[in-house]
Amino acid sequence: MNADDAITVTPILVAELLVEGEVMPVCVHVISHPDGRVLVDTGMTELHPAVVAAFDPRLYPLSEQDFDVAGIDLVVNTHLHADHCGGNHLFPGRPIYVQRRELDDARNEDEYTIREWVDAPDLQYVPVDGELELLPGVRLIPAPGHTPGSQVVVIESGGRPVVICGDAAVWSGELDEPRTEGQRRIRALDPEKVWLAHEHEPWRPGTADADHRPAEAQDGQSWSIT
Ligand SMILES: [Zn+2]
Repeated sequence: MNADDAITVTPILVAELLVEGEVMPVCVHVISHPDGRVLVDTGMTELHPAVVAAFDPRLYPLSEQDFDVAGIDLVVNTHLHADHCGGNHLFPGRPIYVQRRELDDARNEDEYTIREWVDAPDLQYVPVDGELELLPGVRLIPAPGHTPGSQVVVIESGGRPVVICGDAAVWSGELDEPRTEGQRRIRALDPEKVWLAHEHEPWRPGTADADHRPAEAQDGQSWSIT
């Protein structure tokens, strides 16, 4: 694949959550591919009492940034917690790829997400069962752990893969010592780097930073909205 065909990933900060005194970024990721532009997760665009009470968020909605909403061809939700699907309503009529299990859980489980954000008007979900080649060199693979229906995006364009993992790992250190099936699948890919939704910098193998563990990621957290 030559440089003109390069697939690039760009993180965009869309919110900051306050978690026990620490600021936790919320990032979405744009994949620029020769065949189209893919947005992975959509952040939040408005405040909701449940989210305010839990995280006192600061929002930088895609719709208020210098961001080409109309230029997005495909949307992927890694999972449907509120901070990952709150901008879905910006993309009516465009295919939104999510694991079928995740969509079912978001629609049926109590306190899972903000349901009206999931089922905003005119959204066209494409329920996925297992792996799917979204575009040449771009695959969705299930990564259960953070939620049973979580998926990650794997980009393979010649070298080792790049992964966009949503919250399969909420903080980078989780990938140093993978515990969930999803985390183990990511490591088994031998990725060059892994973009997380709640870290500014991607995880890379061999760069453990054990002191940087946000409180939210610890066991026994209450509401699992992130
Ligand atoms: Zn999250």
